[in-house]
Amino acid sequence: QLKDNTIIIVLGASGDLAKKKTYPALFGLYRMGFLPKGVKIVGYARTKMDSAEYHKRITSYIKNVEDEEAKTKLEEFKELSTYISGGYEDDASFDNLNKHLVDIEGGFQGNERNRLFYLALPPSVFIPVARNLKVHCYSKAGINRIIVEKPFGKDLESCRELLSSLKQHWSEDETFRIDHYLGKEMVKNLLVLRFANVAMGAAWDKNSISNVQITFKEPFGTEGRGGYFDEFGIIRDILQNHLLQTLSILTMERPVSFAAEDIRDEKVKVLRAIPPIEREDTLLGQYVAANGKPGYLDDDTVPHNSVCPTYAATTLWIHNPRWEGVPFILKAGKALNEAKVEIRIQFKDVTQGIFKDISRNELVLRIQPAEAMYLKLNTKTPGLYTRAIPTEMDLTYKRRFTDIHIPEAYESLILDALKGDHSNFVRDDELDVAWKIFTPILHWIDGKSGPAPKPVQYPYASRGPKELEAFIAKYGYKRSTEGYAWPLTNMA
Ligand code: NAP
Ligand code: NAP
Repeated sequence: QLKDNTIIIVLGASGDLAKKKTYPALFGLYRMGFLPKGVKIVGYARTKMDSAEYHKRITSYIKNVEDEEAKTKLEEFKELSTYISGGYEDDASFDNLNKHLVDIEGGFQGNERNRLFYLALPPSVFIPVARNLKVHCYSKAGINRIIVEKPFGKDLESCRELLSSLKQHWSEDETFRIDHYLGKEMVKNLLVLRFANVAMGAAWDKNSISNVQITFKEPFGTEGRGGYFDEFGIIRDILQNHLLQTLSILTMERPVSFAAEDIRDEKVKVLRAIPPIEREDTLLGQYVAANGKPGYLDDDTVPHNSVCPTYAATTLWIHNPRWEGVPFILKAGKALNEAKVEIRIQFKDVTQGIFKDISRNELVLRIQPAEAMYLKLNTKTPGLYTRAIPTEMDLTYKRRFTDIHIPEAYESLILDALKGDHSNFVRDDELDVAWKIFTPILHWIDGKSGPAPKPVQYPYASRGPKELEAFIAKYGYKRSTEGYAWPLTNMA
């Protein structure tokens, strides 16, 4: 349930995340009537701007404001949004912010005063800001919550340091750590797909499944913004958080209830059954110039001899009775041939005998773009003879749910935080175990445990390194294209 008398404070309101995600999501929620009654939004950053400039900035990223109703809503949204400029480290700035909040609250009915702080800030200022908010801006007459974004450290040790510094000021119950993949519709669907369908549940284990791939592909490189990326690399950017979170929901045991702690308990349990990734279960790549596009090292913001991987495939193993022996391949890359995020579950071969060389069943959950779920099935070719061909049972969201708006991940997550529901946020012990799985391989890649490995090269706009096919095949993936063609040309 939403609390009236709420102020949402966006710290770092001048930044990229605020413009691209936070404000569009806040407006989306406002437009649909999902923000608390009488809500106010306060932007905060060092950049000096007046109201007009602030409103211009936050609205320039809000799309699809075409009809009159949306335009009216946008005007209302601007009215309830104000901006305060100030530093991140000094007391006076936060006293000033608090004064502004108290002024706004003067207009609220009743005594309750709720504050939701959203840190859209670089990690270098997380700790002073979290402290200053607690000391100067903490409401004594209501609920206080703080939303933080990745990166949560760079390895196990730095993550623990960050967590313990934040915990000095904010309790676990008040903290909402965003991994926006947990807000994506298809990822949220996993719980229903798995636990509300006997047919799925029955096939969800090592007896039926041969291998699983969770894939993230991006069709562009760093394009002059490689400075930040080079410090982190693709594993910290995508695999260790987004893909691992997806994996945990895909593989966890059934939670006792939909309550946040029940779900997160099961996620932690399955993650704890995964040992640290082995070097031989890892393939690293870096893109080079091709197809008229520049290579990673051509980016001026990247050190000229960088060995930072822009592509990584890693295989994880889960040592529990359900999953023993099933390889889970997480792969992600930049500058590839397409944009897609999908889970591909490949089932085992049917028993030999009546069929020879028949395709395997595959269940594909396309997370983006255009959510879809399809099961590749062998079917008798219609006609007067018996021959099996691969076809599909298809659930394309746009066709099946024609009138439904699929919320943006950030809309869904901010609403959860306003309601105090932690189900789709990352708990402290989940982070700890996620870093345990990835830290040894990351230290190897960083050159902290001997010479850093050199990633193999792949051309911009390709599927990834040419070594990929053999890497995937090593874990039992069998690609069969014969006879299969998707009849529609576009994905929708
Ligand atoms: P950003 O644009 O670099 O920074 C946000 C704001 O923080 C800036 O406008 C700046 O505002 C302030 N700031 C404070 N100290 C700074 C410093 N040392 N260098 C630069 N700016 C500083 O960052 P962002 O892309 O919005 O990301 C914010 C957080 O969200 C980060 O933790 C990031 O990892 C995470 N994140 C971002 C995205 C995305 O799409 N951008 C996606 C997922 C997660 P003032 O100068 O006005 O104070
Ligand atoms: P696919 O595109 O054939 O990919 C299947 C797997 O093979 C992926 O793991 C892919 O790896 C790999 N692969 C792709 N090209 C390869 C190549 N040249 N050599 C070696 N491996 C390769 O997927 P599909 O499921 O069979 O679907 C075929 C097409 O039909 C796709 O475009 C799909 O979107 C479409 N389709 C759409 C729907 C729908 O929209 N509802 C339903 C069914 C099929 P990477 O992922 O690493 O590239």
